[in-house]
Amino acid sequence: MSLRPPALDPLFAPVTTLAGVGPKLAPLLKRLLTGGENDARVIDVLFHLPRGGVSRELRPSIRSAPFGEPVTVAGVVIEHKPPAPQGRSPYRVIIEDDTGDLALVFFNVYRDHLSKTLPVGATRYVSGVIELWNGFRQMTHPDHILDENGLKTLPKIEPVYGLTEGLTSRFLIRCTAAALERLPSLPEWQDAAWIAQRKWPPFTEALKGLHRPGSVASVNEEGMIGNPLRKRLAYDELLASQLALALARARMRRLRGRPTIGDGSVSGPLERALPFSLTSSQQRALAEIRADLASEHKMLRLLQGDVGSGKTVVALLAMLTAVEAGRQAALMVPTEILARQHFERISAMLEQSGVRIGLLTGREKTSERRKVLEGLADGSISLALGTHALFQEGVTYKDLGLAVVDEQHRFGVHQRLAMGSKGEAVDVLVMTATPIPRTLALTLYGDMDVSVLSEKPAGRKPVATRIITLERLDEVAGGLKRAIAAGNLIYWVCPLVAESEKTDLAAAEERFADLKKRLGDVVGLVHGRMSGAEKDTVMERFMAEDIKVLVSTTVIEVGVDIPKASVMVIEHAERFGLAQLHQLRGRVGRGGTASSCLLLYRGPLSQTAKARLQIMRETEDGFRIAEEDLRLRGAGEMLGSKQSGLPETKIANLAFDSDLLAAARDDARLILERDLTLESERGQALRLLLYLFDRDQAVRLLKAG
Ligand code: ADP
Ligand code: MG
Repeated sequence: MSLRPPALDPLFAPVTTLAGVGPKLAPLLKRLLTGGENDARVIDVLFHLPRGGVSRELRPSIRSAPFGEPVTVAGVVIEHKPPAPQGRSPYRVIIEDDTGDLALVFFNVYRDHLSKTLPVGATRYVSGVIELWNGFRQMTHPDHILDENGLKTLPKIEPVYGLTEGLTSRFLIRCTAAALERLPSLPEWQDAAWIAQRKWPPFTEALKGLHRPGSVASVNEEGMIGNPLRKRLAYDELLASQLALALARARMRRLRGRPTIGDGSVSGPLERALPFSLTSSQQRALAEIRADLASEHKMLRLLQGDVGSGKTVVALLAMLTAVEAGRQAALMVPTEILARQHFERISAMLEQSGVRIGLLTGREKTSERRKVLEGLADGSISLALGTHALFQEGVTYKDLGLAVVDEQHRFGVHQRLAMGSKGEAVDVLVMTATPIPRTLALTLYGDMDVSVLSEKPAGRKPVATRIITLERLDEVAGGLKRAIAAGNLIYWVCPLVAESEKTDLAAAEERFADLKKRLGDVVGLVHGRMSGAEKDTVMERFMAEDIKVLVSTTVIEVGVDIPKASVMVIEHAERFGLAQLHQLRGRVGRGGTASSCLLLYRGPLSQTAKARLQIMRETEDGFRIAEEDLRLRGAGEMLGSKQSGLPETKIANLAFDSDLLAAARDDARLILERDLTLESERGQALRLLLYLFDRDQAVRLLKAG
C-alpha cells in the first residue's frame, strides 16, 4: 500500500496518461528520462529541464532577419514551385513581405499538406533558420508554419530539450506542456524566510517558469547555473536527499548498540611497540571511535584520510579494543593482495598477544577455510581479516562487535548492510582514501559520523612528479637503470585499456617483456588474471627486493604498502582519472627516501588530460586534487555514481550547487530537531517533497521507528 498523498497522484501517473503519448513513444521516454530503468511518469517529464531556448519572437521584416539562427518572420504566400517530375530538386514555396522574399524549402513532403498549410495569398508566420543560397534567402523545413491564431500560441521563447533517437523536440514540448497542466497546487515545504531571502518562487512556479522560459539567456547552459528557478528546484532536491539521510541517521541513533569497552591490555602494548607515535589526528580519530564503541548507540563512522595517512593502524587499535571487550572484530579489504599483506603484518605484530587471527579471502584450501570458519563461529578467532568473503553467507561470528571496511568506495552500500547483519549491534567503521570533496562527502556519507586524518605521518618526503612523453622511453629506461643501481624499488603501472581486461593484460605483458630486455632479470609482473598464490609470490619477491621493477595492471592501486618502493611510473597517464593517479602515486613516498613519479603520456593530449597531469605535478594534496577532479568532470562522473552509491541527482549539479548542499544539510538537521516525525504542517509538506524526489523510503522509516 502506498502512503503517497493522493494530491501527488497526477504527477506519478505514467506518461501514457498524457495526450499524444502512446505505446510507441512511452518506451522512448523511459529511455530518455529514467535511463531505461523505470517507466516514465509525469513528474519525470517535468524534471527533464530545458537545455536551452530558441527565440520565436516575430522579426519586423524578412530582410532584417539575421542568417544562421532561428528566426520567425511573416510573409504572404506567393507561389508554389513543385520540383520537375523526375527532378531531385526540393519543393519550394515562396513567401514575401515589403522588404523581400523567402523560399521555404521542403524535401519529401506531401504536396496536399503544403497547399493546405501554405495556401497562396494567405499570410503565414514561419520559424526556422534563414540561409543565403545562390543569393536568395531560403529556409529549409521550417520548425513552425502558423497562421494568425497559431502565432498567438507560439511561445516567445521555445525550450530546447535533450532528446533521444526517435523523439522530436516538438513532441517533447507538447508532452511537457501537458505535464505542466497536471501540476496540483502544493503547500510550501521550504522555510518562508529562506525562500524570501533567495527570492525563489514556489515549486510549481519554478517548474512552469523553466519550461516556459522568459529569455534564451535564462535557460542556456550558462544561464541555467545561476537561474533562481533551477536553484530553487536544486535546493528542493538536495533538501529531500539530506532529509532522507538525516532520517536514516536519526533512526540509526535510536538503534541500541552494546557498549564495547576495552581495558587496553592488547592495544596498549601494541601501540607502545610501534616504531612511531600516532599523529594527533590519528589519536583524535581513535578516541572518537572508542567513544562510539563505548556508547549505547550503534556506530556508523567514516574514517577519511588521504593515501598514506595511516588509517590501518587506527583501525587495528580500534579492533583490538573490541577484542579486549571479549568480542570479535573484522577488517574487510578490496583485494587479496592487501588482505594477505595485512594478515602477515598484523600477525607479526600480535605474535606475543595471544590474539588469534583468521584470514578469509575465498581462496583458502577447504581444510584451512573450515578451520577459520569454525574459529569465527566458536569465538576462538577474535580478529578476522579478508575480502568480501568475510561477510558472505555461511560465515557466522560468535559475537562480532566491530566491522571495518577499508577503501569503501570499492564496496557497495549493500555490503555495508551485510556487515551490520553479521551480529547483534555490530559497530561499523568505513575507511576511505578517496579524498572526497567535503561537499560530496555530505551526500555520500551524510548518514555517517566522520573522522578525518588531516595530516600525514611525519618524515614523509614530497614525491617529485614529472610529465614525460612516451617518445622518451629510452631515457626513462636509462633513468630506471640508475635508480635500480642506487637501490630503489620501482612500480610500473600499465594503462587501463578501454576494450577489455585481456588487452590490459597484453599491454602489461608487452611492457614486461620490453623492460626485461632493457633492464634484465630484475623485472616482475603482476596482474589481475593471476591466481592469488601467483600474485603473492611476485609481491613477496618484490618486498624481498628480488624483483626491483614491478610491472602491473592497476591491481596495486589500492592499499598496498611497501615503504621501500620509491619510484612510480604510470604509463599512458593520460588515460587515468585524477583520483586514480593520486592513489597510484600514493604508493610511493612512504619511506624516508626521496621518491618520484613519472607520468608517461602519448600526445596529443586533450585539454582535460593536460589539465589533469598538470594538477598532479602541482600538488599532492588529495583534497585539492579531488576538487579539481570534480571541477573537470562533474560530480556524477567522478564517482561513477552507480557504483559509489552516490545518489544520482536529477536537477542539482554538485559541481556548481555545492553551496546549497551544506545549507540543505543544516536545514535537514534543524527540521528533524524540531519535528522528528514530520508531523507539523511543514513536516507534512516535506513528506510531499520526499515523494517528489523519490525519497519515500525515508517516509517509511518514519513509521518503522
Ligand atoms: P593508508 O591511510 O593509506 O591506509 P597506511 O595505513 O597503509 O596508510 O599507512 C601508511 C604507512 O605509514 C604504513 O607503513 C604505516 O606503518 C605508516 N604509519 C602509520 N602511522 C604512522 C605514524 N603516525 N608515523 C609514521 N608512520 C606511520
Ligand atoms: Mg590503506
